[in-house]
Amino acid sequence: MDFRFSPEQQAFQNEVRDFILTEVPQELRWCERTAFTDALWPAVLETRKKLAQKGWATMHWPVEYGGQGASHIAQTLLVEELAYWGMPQAITVDDGPNLIGPTIIRFGSDHLRKTLLPSIASGETYWCQGYTEPGSGSDLAAVRTTAVQDGNHYVINGQKDFISGAARADWIHILARTNPEAPRHRNLSYFVVDMRSPGITLSPLDEAQGRSGMLNEVFFDNLRVPAENLVGERNEGWQVAMSTLNLERSGIENVGHARSFLKDIVTYARETVHDGESLLNIDRVSSKMAEMAVKIEACRLAAYRVAWLRDKGLNPDYESSMSKLLSSEMWQQFTDAVMQVLGHYGPLESDSRYAPLKGRIEEAYIGSIFETIYEGTSEIQRNVIAQRGLGLPRR
Ligand SMILES: Cc1cc2nc3c(=O)[nH]c(=O)nc-3n(C[C@H](O)[C@H](O)[C@H](O)COP(=O)(O)OP(=O)(O)OC[C@H]3O[C@@H](n4cnc5c(N)ncnc54)[C@H](O)[C@@H]3O)c2cc1C
Repeated sequence: MDFRFSPEQQAFQNEVRDFILTEVPQELRWCERTAFTDALWPAVLETRKKLAQKGWATMHWPVEYGGQGASHIAQTLLVEELAYWGMPQAITVDDGPNLIGPTIIRFGSDHLRKTLLPSIASGETYWCQGYTEPGSGSDLAAVRTTAVQDGNHYVINGQKDFISGAARADWIHILARTNPEAPRHRNLSYFVVDMRSPGITLSPLDEAQGRSGMLNEVFFDNLRVPAENLVGERNEGWQVAMSTLNLERSGIENVGHARSFLKDIVTYARETVHDGESLLNIDRVSSKMAEMAVKIEACRLAAYRVAWLRDKGLNPDYESSMSKLLSSEMWQQFTDAVMQVLGHYGPLESDSRYAPLKGRIEEAYIGSIFETIYEGTSEIQRNVIAQRGLGLPRR
């Protein structure tokens, strides 16, 4: 066992850092709330394309599909570094290269590989994921959206809820019921759907962060999808979806964010004088920082263990849930701790002249609330760890 990155990995990390500092517009740093707006979206798209041109977005794909056959450790380093510099999720944890591309490589037909992978690899298409429905968020298999075959097409009717980035997405991946008679988990099929197809309408949901257009309800009304857009076998979509969702749980982006914030907050505390004393001299403040440093390190190790398992050809299962659980809860505790350290300045928004760290903490604090909800709630991750990790009975 070796806990150090290799010289090549360290060199890659430096290369990514240089790229961000020289090639990525400064306005994209810490812009999660505004990344989908008309003002910033063109710069987000441009940066995604630049990452693709470097071959980094899909570096972990096999060479035959346009990747570099790079290790998952290297790909995790990339995401951590992008997150460290505050790149928005549409760049750091992009569904196309990270979720749907590997799913198509594993389960998709040659037709889907040929037609969809190149535009994912070049950063030209933006994907969203459509799993949650009214009444079926945690219980993912309780899908009510139906897909009925009609010749060379499936006709899809239903609704997906709380879909991030749907208003900007070119494509969506979804589960739909194709066999109402069959038991749960054997009645679902996995489809990829062009978001510009007739029969799709969106309705934005206003969320706490004020990112209008970010979250949407997506309605399918007699949507006709070519039968060739089925990924994997008909009625075997559950296995495909589980494989997709397993790919998203490591939470390394929270580690990148937290490492960056910790550095800045230590500087802030050193320079800020309270009752004639530097904030850092207050025991409660320095012990909070130390406690958070420990938690960040634990999360980092858990996330790289997930990457290591993938590199060994093993399928991380409850290990991904552990990593996701740790990092999402760490990020909430971390932003809360920083809020306490900043006192009444903490909640000030970025446009306030008094906001410390340019208001980044206020945005991060609100944003962290959602981390324990999406990609499977903390309760669901604990269930997975108890059942699949510890072999305890299902609850
Ligand atoms: C900001 C944001 C972005 C999102 N983006 C997307 C997206 O892009 N695509 C998408 O498909 N979905 C997305 N979602 C939806 C998200 O995945 C669901 O909200 C989540 O899976 C929980 O489902 P639910 O809201 O229906 O809660 P429910 O499933 O109704 O759960 C309610 C509560 O009960 C608990 N609970 C439920 N079942 C169990 C159980 N068996 N054991 C213990 N506790 C349980 C849950 O943990 C939760 O606390 C997003 C949500 C948010 C907030």
